[in-house]
Amino acid sequence: MRDVFNFSAGPSMLPEEVLLEAQKEMLNCLGSGMSALEMSHRSKTYDAIHNEAIALFKELFNVDDSKYYVLFLQGGATTQFSAVPLNLLTEKNGKKADYIVTGNFASKAYEEACRYGDIKCLANTKESKYSYIPDVDTLEYRENTDYVHITSNNTIFGTRYTKFPNVNNLVADMSSNILSEPVDVNKFKLIYAGAQKNVAPSGLTIVVVRKDAVDNCEPLPFTPILMQYRTQASKDSLYNTPCTYSTYIAMLNFRYLKKFGGVEAIYKQNKYKAGLLYDYLDNSNFYTNIVRKEDRSIMNVTFVTPNADLDAKFVKEAGQNGLVSLKGHKLVGGLRASIYNSMPVEGVEKLISFMKKFEMENK
Ligand SMILES: *Cc1c(COP(=O)(O)O)cnc(C)c1O
Repeated sequence: MRDVFNFSAGPSMLPEEVLLEAQKEMLNCLGSGMSALEMSHRSKTYDAIHNEAIALFKELFNVDDSKYYVLFLQGGATTQFSAVPLNLLTEKNGKKADYIVTGNFASKAYEEACRYGDIKCLANTKESKYSYIPDVDTLEYRENTDYVHITSNNTIFGTRYTKFPNVNNLVADMSSNILSEPVDVNKFKLIYAGAQKNVAPSGLTIVVVRKDAVDNCEPLPFTPILMQYRTQASKDSLYNTPCTYSTYIAMLNFRYLKKFGGVEAIYKQNKYKAGLLYDYLDNSNFYTNIVRKEDRSIMNVTFVTPNADLDAKFVKEAGQNGLVSLKGHKLVGGLRASIYNSMPVEGVEKLISFMKKFEMENK
């Protein structure tokens, strides 16, 4: 067991077993006599890694192979803020898309899309400090849009959709909660996620996109070749050099998750971990969480102490106790515990013990 529990929002913790396996194979990956760090992406060994990683992802995320492409790309979720409108907006529909803005990343995605088409913001919860998810049933979706964009988990503010808009062209940024809970992929036109929260080190970006949205669509004419989904779909995500090591770690992590019992099993554990933390927060009059209860994230738990000086003291003393990266995002301040799939229950229990002690000492 490691001495430090890392509550970073991303890049974030990976399971110890995965890191130890990578260490074991560092100089000889899958019997190749080479490290995965130095291996050609056109080699047989890398081919096996690439294929196993994608196959395990499809299995764990329950992706219908006949309906969806799964692309392993680079550039982070932020590149998808551009790639999504560039690939999905169509002249036929007047390049229309609707966005629901529930956080800073959602806002960035919206602003980027506005550069390319007729983009409408259906709701923006900024006035309420992004502390809730709007009622998706009462929003005024436009007719004939190319897509409706949401951010399923808001990493900075600690909110999450528990119900999705009932539209047939939904696009979701799932960077901070992919594989943390079961999702009916068939409800989506496209899902994307940077890997560095729940999957692997940074570099890898996963895109799940309905085949008809790629096969029957022209990207906007100036779309860079590498950002066209059809380029990557036709080359099995190997048009250029992929992020080989991140994909290798993703493969190990998917093996681990499968052994753990898959998404259902990890979801149970995630709910349990978040429940421990929220129960404690709800019963404390020292710490506060401002998120509306039904919209609470089970990945990123945000809270504050009675004042900013105590927040800073909390971060410092927690660090001295092996509980690191608990400082809230600079936009909101306060504190944030990111408790992704790889955070053991023990880490959350240790955090709560520390919180109790800190509360007693500073009340
Ligand atoms: C982290 C994050 C991003 C940004 O990801 P990059 O890989 O740094 O581009 C976007 N959206 C969400 C929801 C995130 O959590």
